[in-house]
Amino acid sequence: MDHNDSEESDNNIYITKIIIIGAGMAGLSAAYHLTRNGITDFKILEARNRIGGRIVQIPIGDQKVELGANWIHGVLGNPVYELAMQNGLVDIMTIPTPHKVIAATEQGKQVPFTTLHEIYEAYLCFLKRCEEYFISQYLPPEGVDSVGEHIKLEINLYLEQIKNQQDRHLRELLFECLLKRETCISGCDDMSEIDLIEIGSYTELQGGNIVLPKGYSSILEPLSNVIPGENLFLKHPVRHVKWNFRKKSGNDSDSDDSDRTVIESPSPSEELNYEKYPNSKVEVICDNGKKFIGEHVICTLPLGVLKHNANTIFQPPLPTYKLEAIDRLLFGTVDKIFLEYERPFLHPSITEVLLLWETEKEKSPDLSEYWYKKIYSFSKITETLILGWISGKEAEYMETLPNQVISDTCTSILRKFLNDPFVPKPKTCIW
Ligand SMILES: Cc1cc2nc3c(=O)[nH]c(=O)nc-3n(C[C@H](O)[C@H](O)[C@H](O)COP(=O)(O)OP(=O)(O)OC[C@H]3O[C@@H](n4cnc5c(N)ncnc54)[C@H](O)[C@@H]3O)c2cc1C
Repeated sequence: MDHNDSEESDNNIYITKIIIIGAGMAGLSAAYHLTRNGITDFKILEARNRIGGRIVQIPIGDQKVELGANWIHGVLGNPVYELAMQNGLVDIMTIPTPHKVIAATEQGKQVPFTTLHEIYEAYLCFLKRCEEYFISQYLPPEGVDSVGEHIKLEINLYLEQIKNQQDRHLRELLFECLLKRETCISGCDDMSEIDLIEIGSYTELQGGNIVLPKGYSSILEPLSNVIPGENLFLKHPVRHVKWNFRKKSGNDSDSDDSDRTVIESPSPSEELNYEKYPNSKVEVICDNGKKFIGEHVICTLPLGVLKHNANTIFQPPLPTYKLEAIDRLLFGTVDKIFLEYERPFLHPSITEVLLLWETEKEKSPDLSEYWYKKIYSFSKITETLILGWISGKEAEYMETLPNQVISDTCTSILRKFLNDPFVPKPKTCIW
């Protein structure tokens, strides 16, 4: 959309009531609710050439896959589920397909299902115990501060009871695999980064995980349909947010942050005639030089962007307690690897293969030697589409590799764990 010719444009200056930064779920949702409540005097500034942010669907062959969000987590009290229901996006008659997971060792040996089941149940129990600290009066053992440390403590106690060394080793590998899986759920590199006392503060909504028949991205349609097209500015990366510049003292604020905000007037762009815009309180400047002047700004910049740029984007700087919170909050990498095949090769009854990598005695500092061991499973999306998950610094390292290397590595992994040298090479590999 090209807004250069817009009637409102005056020397690339746009006046509006509310400026929304980012057109991901948060920004679109803000715009949707404003519109539904009769407020259409807003502009959405989005850096990319598309809406959706971390909700994104791409075609692979004749199939469509979600590179980002995939499940609606929970039904009761979930506004995303409600929106999907209201717009006929949920198929309530869907009968879940049975999930048959197998776990295999590097030697291509399958673990008996009873062992897999036993360890999965024990693991869930260990995780649940971590969650209980949040509401309980008891403190964790001294020096144990993270979920990773606490679970490992319980794993060790559990394994001590198993006398047969082989049985014990197999169970240890299963626990390791489940911990790697947990890093993809929590969005971290290692579970030792996750605070033990706080993990229980996360409330899961009842109702399980819902998959939309047309993909999670179909939720973007009802949101964006009601937003007037001329309010959306794609390819408009925001560089600066000058805020609070009308404030003279702490007592004229309608912001919740007023008591803790540094009262300091930034200098608005000199060429702007502020007498013309008496209600304006904020000025947002984009990379392309366009300026948006408004009364309010809703900033939905992702945490990663804030961690890198919060110091330069906001003028005056954000209050210290906000900058500290941005600094302290965890930001991790989780990647999906999609592999598309000409023909099916996994047995039709198998839906997921857990990879039981041997634990490294000493981790080499060279990620190229072991990055792929962070891939904890391959699961089937369709008979010819397989999905692998990887998190943390290994995922970041993978992002630097050519696609062919990733594709070949995944083929070697599958051949090894399935003990089948004829596993075909994928025709497409996308992450
Ligand atoms: C691999 C993966 C799987 C996930 N799976 C699930 C799931 O199954 N279920 C679930 O509920 N959640 C899932 N999530 C999380 C979910 O996708 C996010 O929580 C949600 O989409 C975040 O929305 P947001 O609007 O806050 O941020 P984003 O979607 O990141 O939107 C922020 C927007 O701001 C834009 N932006 C950035 N910088 C600028 C700038 N300078 N100027 C203007 N615009 C800018 C970005 O381009 C982006 O469009 C998953 C995430 C990932 C990565």
